[in-house]
Amino acid sequence: MTKCRLCEKEKDLELSHIIPKFVFRHLKKTSPTGNMRSTENPNKSIQDGLKLPFLCRDCESLFSVWETKFANEIFFKYQEGSENSFSHDIWLTKYLASVSFRVLSYAYYEVDLDYFDKNMLRHVPAAIDRLRKYLLGQSSNPGEQRQLLLLLDKASEPIDSDFNMYLVRGIEHDVLTTDKDSFVYIKYLKFLQLCPIKLSSNKGWKTARVSLNKGTLAVKDHELPDYVSNRLRKGAETLTSSRDKISEKQASIISSRVEEVPAENLLESPVAKAASKHDI
Ligand SMILES: [Zn+2]
Repeated sequence: MTKCRLCEKEKDLELSHIIPKFVFRHLKKTSPTGNMRSTENPNKSIQDGLKLPFLCRDCESLFSVWETKFANEIFFKYQEGSENSFSHDIWLTKYLASVSFRVLSYAYYEVDLDYFDKNMLRHVPAAIDRLRKYLLGQSSNPGEQRQLLLLLDKASEPIDSDFNMYLVRGIEHDVLTTDKDSFVYIKYLKFLQLCPIKLSSNKGWKTARVSLNKGTLAVKDHELPDYVSNRLRKGAETLTSSRDKISEKQASIISSRVEEVPAENLLESPVAKAASKHDI
């Protein structure tokens, strides 16, 4: 028995996914080899993504309602290219907040945000608490932790670049800070999810905001802060450098199955690296 991270009751905990399971299932199903690889150790396949004893059964069920709704109403339709515009209700921001909550709590409690300065770090538990109360229905909005979601697609040229591969296939989560701003970064297949922890200004953080209740989500150009765009570029660079880590034997196994290295799980910062250790 341990304390559930959401309701904070002493209960038996389930093995909870940090990034929902349907993401990994879909990646695996649509990968040419049927395997997923991590950039941390690309010689090993990852089966299922990171999961930890995190939530009690009741809180898992609460999350799974929003997850199923997101998977069926948006995720599969957009991944398969059958729709580009999606109506949603309150479940979308609840779902997004549930993933941000998992990533941020995992980073804060299970890893270490020692690269945050003290002043910035104190905003983290406050953000976790606001997300928690919002998810439990104890507050009507998540305050500063407004959820952002971007529908991604390949950039124009060149189509087969690592950047494009990363945009449509990369999966990773990270918690980042600059001198003035900090935020949660969650990238899975054609979705980029962001959640501010503490911002000095809302510049670049407005257009991708998801409305709290009814709204429409569509593919469009968004204004983003430079450090978010740079993080996307960095993710793609990790993909490039991970190719060198693949052993010769493993490379020949892979190339006997497909023309090129398939989808990758990209991991970069200390938090992302710690996540990969659990994955493998
Ligand atoms: Zn619970």
